[in-house]
Amino acid sequence: MPPSTKTPLSDALKRLVGRSVREIDTPALVADLDAMQRNPGRMAEFARKHDIRWRPHAKMHKSSAIARLQLQAGAVGVCVQKTSEAEAMVAGGVHDVYISNEVVAPAKLARVADLAHTVAAENGQLAIAVDSVEGVRRLADAMNERRRRGTAAVIDVFVEIDVGGGRCGVTPGRAAVDLAHEIRRHPALRFAGLQAYNGKAQHLRTAQERRDAIGIVVQDVLFTRKLIEAEGVPVNLVTGAGTGSMVCEAASGVFGELQSGSFLFMDADYAANERDPAQPQFEHALFVKSQVMSSGVRHAVCDAGHKSHAIDTGLPKVLDLQPTGELEFFNGGDEHGILRPAAGNQRVPALDEIVWLIPGHCDPTVNLHNFIIAVSGGLERGKVEKIIRVDARGALT
Ligand code: PLP
Ligand code: MN
Repeated sequence: MPPSTKTPLSDALKRLVGRSVREIDTPALVADLDAMQRNPGRMAEFARKHDIRWRPHAKMHKSSAIARLQLQAGAVGVCVQKTSEAEAMVAGGVHDVYISNEVVAPAKLARVADLAHTVAAENGQLAIAVDSVEGVRRLADAMNERRRRGTAAVIDVFVEIDVGGGRCGVTPGRAAVDLAHEIRRHPALRFAGLQAYNGKAQHLRTAQERRDAIGIVVQDVLFTRKLIEAEGVPVNLVTGAGTGSMVCEAASGVFGELQSGSFLFMDADYAANERDPAQPQFEHALFVKSQVMSSGVRHAVCDAGHKSHAIDTGLPKVLDLQPTGELEFFNGGDEHGILRPAAGNQRVPALDEIVWLIPGHCDPTVNLHNFIIAVSGGLERGKVEKIIRVDARGALT
């Protein structure tokens, strides 16, 4: 069972539901439920327009409840990166799960095979990525071992090609053909297509840079697909894309599925990208509510440091709400944030003032919290609608 699946909801949190946003103690991870519903709505509309499926990445929100919301909005399933994330999703009732990553440890593959059977019993489907012959054989061994104890579930297998990310994946071309053939040798595995995700393209700041990077991705995919199909093996689906590059994959005519995850919450790092005119206007939907605990002449200190938000892609931005005036956030360590008036603003926030922080990077920020407090009606006057459990929090295996 993933680590936080069973984290109990405290009485204080239970009591918050239905109460004013003002009563949320700080620091706390808060989602704007209205924005969190508009963003998937925009994604669904975009996907419909481009005749493409969307399978949002759950590595970002790590919550089966949020995954279910996105399924209701039209997602075909979820992506995860880890076996334990897949377990949390399945335990939370999500039965169409793609592990868009390589899993090679036999003990993990035994769990993957178990999951493949669990979701098959629910008319669902498990899928996984591979980038080595050894990995395919170990997956087949695990599936065969599991089949001896049950029904004959099949797992979908995508061959990952390295399309510029410099991470996992075989070199586009012949190596992918060999892997497709290897997958087809095993009855418990089904060759499902190509995984082609370029993580490095996501935060190239200009739209043109991202277009150029995905242009190369598309060439790699076309070349590899042609080689595989020349040997009589259909490539039924090409899957990939993140929030930064999705308009390019969608327009390519080559991709059948988008894996974007962060569009749901939109962190400060993504907001710093130049928006492609074709990109839906996604809004910030995830915030850290924080309160000023010390105030001086030149700066104030709030109660959120990097135990409340990840700083790997930069410090949080301060949401510009009255009466605080525009503020800049500086690193104050684990538990403190330093707030200084931004250029043109003189006012240092007073003791007790509330500041709303837009995290630099949503994925590792969510992973710091057991619960997300979801509010509707706005951050100032809204009320707490529900408490969302981050049930795959800390699910790293
Ligand atoms: N697909 C894969 C394989 C990823 O690793 C990621 C994120 O790193 C994504 C999709 C989603 O990207 P994002 O959350 O930036 O939209
Ligand atoms: Mn990310």
